[in-house]
Amino acid sequence: MLIDSHAHLTFATLKDDPEAMIARAKAAGIEAIININTSPQEIERGETLSSRHPWIYQVAATHPHDVAKVGEEQFEPIAQKARLGALVAIGEIGLDYFYKYSTPEVQRAFLARYFQLAQECHLPVVIHCREAFDDLFAVADEHYQKGPALLHCFTGSMKELETVLARGWMVSFSGIVTFKKSQELRECAKIVPHSRLLIETDTPFLAPQSHRGKPNEPAYLVETAHVMAEVLGLSFEELAKLTTANARRFFKL
Ligand SMILES: [Zn+2]
Repeated sequence: MLIDSHAHLTFATLKDDPEAMIARAKAAGIEAIININTSPQEIERGETLSSRHPWIYQVAATHPHDVAKVGEEQFEPIAQKARLGALVAIGEIGLDYFYKYSTPEVQRAFLARYFQLAQECHLPVVIHCREAFDDLFAVADEHYQKGPALLHCFTGSMKELETVLARGWMVSFSGIVTFKKSQELRECAKIVPHSRLLIETDTPFLAPQSHRGKPNEPAYLVETAHVMAEVLGLSFEELAKLTTANARRFFKL
């Protein structure tokens, strides 16, 4: 049984009926889904899903892409949900200097605020980082010393991975690891201590190799798990057991 540590079941643009998707996830052996909300409206829908399916858990923050536009208006409503205990983590927060939809200054300011919120609420954080590791670490050093963190959908270099691991953070791999050209990423996966490894779909994005180009969904995590098991020289059951235990420990499920 697997845990999808990062899915967006409540994205406004999601065309598939989440109920049908959830039923397929269950049939495929997914025992929990961490649903990442990027707005207060999504949290409302996420809470409805959790009330119907208690094995779906909620995480929320304004995505770094959107903080310049809606970060301010969304911060307090999201913080309120965190303070009420509706969330198992704060995220996804972070920095994205690849797209730079928000300026780096604004992204760093919101990253700092969300780090502080996580510490106030004793919640772990889920981090998105693209081409911004130096600044991410600098903000973390100032505002989130030794807090529990999960770097989601890791796609960086071996050197970046080493610095992430040196901080004691958890690392999650998505369907990208199944792509033929992802040889370097598969090498990266091998150096992550087994106690720090998670897997995710990032639904509806990044469908694994056999579903490439189509919308992703939690049921497809099985394919990523098979590839990860092969890369690490483990059986599917061993890989499932360790990543599930890691997700339960990290999110306190
Ligand atoms: Zn995401």
